[in-house]
Amino acid sequence: MSRILRVILWGALAVMILGGPAPAQQPPFATTKVEGTDNVYIFRFGNAQAMFVVTSAGVIATDPIGYGRPQAVTTYIDEIKKVTNQPVRYVIYSHHHYDHIAGGKPFKDAGATFIAHKNAKQRLERLKDPHTVIPDETVDNNRTIRLGDTTLELIYLGLNHSDSMLVMWLPKEKIIFTVDWLPVGSLPGRGMIDFYPLEAEQSIKRVLSMDWERLIPGHPAPGDRLGTKQDAQDQLSFLQDASAAVKVAAREGKCWEPAEKEVKLPKYEKWPGYENNLQFVTRRYCGLWGRGT
Ligand SMILES: [Zn+2]
Repeated sequence: MSRILRVILWGALAVMILGGPAPAQQPPFATTKVEGTDNVYIFRFGNAQAMFVVTSAGVIATDPIGYGRPQAVTTYIDEIKKVTNQPVRYVIYSHHHYDHIAGGKPFKDAGATFIAHKNAKQRLERLKDPHTVIPDETVDNNRTIRLGDTTLELIYLGLNHSDSMLVMWLPKEKIIFTVDWLPVGSLPGRGMIDFYPLEAEQSIKRVLSMDWERLIPGHPAPGDRLGTKQDAQDQLSFLQDASAAVKVAAREGKCWEPAEKEVKLPKYEKWPGYENNLQFVTRRYCGLWGRGT
């Protein structure tokens, strides 16, 4: 074997073993206790995550995150069992999208009560997805869950991403868990297909007026950090800037196609998702300003 060939082969082997120059892949799932709390956890599987809270009277779990991957749900349950012997009393859906709520049957079989916004239940009953548990109970504008010494407030702030979004607020811990409409330090993506632009701005102003300090998002943020009010404010600024830019294009008759190619928001080009997702943001605002929807 020539020396050059040997070097190439060793190089290829090193890439295989070390995974090449790309950053090491993160493990498929992880459970993390939220710093500074006694009992608040984040369960991540792949690129989705859910919060669960362990109390002396049982566990409050949220989104099953089992869309197309039932093993995420069984793993979620196993991970809870590693932390506590308490049964899961509740599973609370953040909103009705299957990528967050499908797959909950193992929780149901173990006796959990499922809660969601009333609009989520209505939709799920119509769509009859075989993999998604229909909620047992619903929330209209707000509801308080008290379990052990934990208080969890479920709050509906109106239309934003979907018409069924709950903010789950732990007032003592000053933590909220809410999904998809406040991406932390990144652009929203295809989920813009179910987004209410004008109402979402009002929702963000309302969530900013609530008493919380940390936000657990439904998809991990860059660096796995939690969100802050500054992130919510930044998301509002981003949406307002996108809206204003697309409004101009729309009134020049450029929706859909030219606008999707031409609208740029360089202020946000460093945010993850900028290259791939700006088109979906533009499309949604073209719907608003170019079609009136
Ligand atoms: Zn969603």
